[in-house]
Amino acid sequence: MTQQDKAEYIARYYGYNNQSRKAMEEAGELIQAINKFWEGPMENGNVSLEEAALCKEEIALMEELADMQIMIWQMCYFHGMDLTETIEGKLDRQIRRISMERGIPQEQRERILNTFLGGRR
Ligand SMILES: [Mg+2]
Repeated sequence: MTQQDKAEYIARYYGYNNQSRKAMEEAGELIQAINKFWEGPMENGNVSLEEAALCKEEIALMEELADMQIMIWQMCYFHGMDLTETIEGKLDRQIRRISMERGIPQEQRERILNTFLGGRR
Protein backbone atom coordinates (compact mmCIF):
# COMPACT_ATOMS: atom_id res chain seq x y z
CA MET A 1 0.00 0.00 0.00
CA THR A 2 1.50 3.31 -1.09
CA GLN A 3 1.06 6.71 0.54
CA GLN A 4 -1.02 7.68 -2.49
CA ASP A 5 -3.30 4.67 -1.95
CA LYS A 6 -3.89 5.82 1.63
CA ALA A 7 -4.65 9.36 0.46
CA GLU A 8 -7.16 7.96 -2.05
CA TYR A 9 -8.89 5.95 0.67
CA ILE A 10 -9.23 9.13 2.74
CA ALA A 11 -10.55 10.95 -0.34
CA ARG A 12 -13.26 8.30 -0.89
CA TYR A 13 -14.19 8.31 2.79
CA TYR A 14 -14.73 12.08 3.06
CA GLY A 15 -15.82 12.80 -0.51
CA TYR A 16 -15.19 15.62 -2.94
CA ASN A 17 -17.17 18.37 -1.20
CA ASN A 18 -15.23 18.05 2.05
CA GLN A 19 -11.84 17.40 0.54
CA SER A 20 -11.93 20.13 -2.10
CA ARG A 21 -12.57 22.59 0.74
CA LYS A 22 -9.84 20.97 2.80
CA ALA A 23 -7.47 21.40 -0.16
CA MET A 24 -8.20 25.14 -0.21
CA GLU A 25 -7.66 25.32 3.57
CA GLU A 26 -4.32 23.49 3.30
CA ALA A 27 -3.22 25.73 0.41
CA GLY A 28 -3.83 28.73 2.68
CA GLU A 29 -1.88 27.11 5.52
CA LEU A 30 1.03 26.43 3.14
CA ILE A 31 1.08 30.06 2.01
CA GLN A 32 1.17 31.16 5.66
CA ALA A 33 3.98 28.71 6.54
CA ILE A 34 6.13 29.88 3.61
CA ASN A 35 5.52 33.47 4.64
CA LYS A 36 6.31 32.83 8.33
CA PHE A 37 9.62 31.19 7.37
CA TRP A 38 10.43 34.03 4.97
CA GLU A 39 9.57 36.86 7.37
CA GLY A 40 10.87 35.06 10.49
CA PRO A 41 14.12 33.08 10.27
CA MET A 42 15.01 34.42 6.81
CA GLU A 43 14.32 38.02 7.84
CA ASN A 44 12.76 38.85 4.45
CA GLY A 45 15.70 37.46 2.51
CA ASN A 46 18.45 39.03 4.62
CA VAL A 47 19.43 35.65 6.07
CA SER A 48 20.43 32.75 3.82
CA LEU A 49 18.32 29.61 3.59
CA GLU A 50 21.17 27.58 5.09
CA GLU A 51 21.47 29.90 8.11
CA ALA A 52 17.71 30.00 8.61
CA ALA A 53 17.21 26.25 8.34
CA LEU A 54 16.42 23.72 11.08
CA CYS A 55 14.10 25.88 13.14
CA LYS A 56 10.49 25.45 14.24
CA GLU A 57 9.27 27.50 11.26
CA GLU A 58 10.99 25.09 8.86
CA ILE A 59 9.44 22.10 10.63
CA ALA A 60 6.04 23.79 10.36
CA LEU A 61 6.70 24.37 6.65
CA MET A 62 7.51 20.67 6.20
CA GLU A 63 4.19 19.76 7.85
CA GLU A 64 2.25 22.05 5.51
CA LEU A 65 4.09 20.80 2.42
CA ALA A 66 3.12 17.26 3.45
CA ASP A 67 -0.52 18.32 3.95
CA MET A 68 -0.53 19.90 0.49
CA GLN A 69 1.01 16.82 -1.14
CA ILE A 70 -1.72 14.67 0.43
CA MET A 71 -4.41 17.05 -0.85
CA ILE A 72 -2.86 17.11 -4.34
CA TRP A 73 -3.02 13.30 -4.43
CA GLN A 74 -6.67 13.44 -3.34
CA MET A 75 -7.63 16.10 -5.90
CA CYS A 76 -5.90 14.11 -8.65
CA TYR A 77 -7.81 11.02 -7.56
CA PHE A 78 -11.19 12.81 -7.70
CA HIS A 79 -10.48 14.34 -11.09
CA GLY A 80 -8.81 11.23 -12.51
CA MET A 81 -5.69 13.22 -13.21
CA ASP A 82 -2.13 12.01 -13.65
CA LEU A 83 0.17 15.03 -13.43
CA THR A 84 3.29 13.30 -14.76
CA GLU A 85 3.18 14.66 -18.32
CA THR A 86 1.92 18.10 -17.27
CA ILE A 87 4.74 18.46 -14.75
CA GLU A 88 7.30 17.23 -17.30
CA GLY A 89 6.07 19.80 -19.83
CA LYS A 90 6.21 22.64 -17.32
CA LEU A 91 9.68 21.69 -16.09
CA ASP A 92 11.01 21.45 -19.66
CA ARG A 93 9.44 24.81 -20.59
CA GLN A 94 11.09 26.52 -17.62
CA ILE A 95 14.48 24.92 -18.27
CA ARG A 96 14.18 26.10 -21.91
CA ARG A 97 13.41 29.63 -20.63
CA ILE A 98 16.44 29.50 -18.31
CA SER A 99 18.66 28.41 -21.21
CA MET A 100 17.41 31.41 -23.22
CA GLU A 101 18.10 33.98 -20.49
CA ARG A 102 20.26 36.88 -21.46
CA GLY A 103 23.93 36.62 -20.53
CA ILE A 104 24.12 32.83 -20.59
CA PRO A 105 27.06 31.84 -22.82
CA GLN A 106 26.28 29.57 -25.80
CA GLU A 107 28.38 26.74 -24.34
CA GLN A 108 26.42 26.78 -21.08
CA ARG A 109 23.15 27.06 -23.03
CA GLU A 110 24.03 23.86 -24.93
CA ARG A 111 25.04 22.11 -21.70
CA ILE A 112 21.70 22.96 -20.05
CA LEU A 113 19.71 21.72 -23.06
CA ASN A 114 21.81 18.53 -23.33
CA THR A 115 21.62 17.79 -19.61
CA PHE A 116 17.90 18.36 -19.08
CA LEU A 117 16.26 18.04 -22.48
CA GLY A 118 18.58 15.59 -24.25
CA GLY A 119 19.57 18.39 -26.65
CA ARG A 120 15.92 19.18 -27.57
CA ARG A 121 14.98 22.82 -27.90
MG1 LIG B 1 -2.09 21.98 7.39
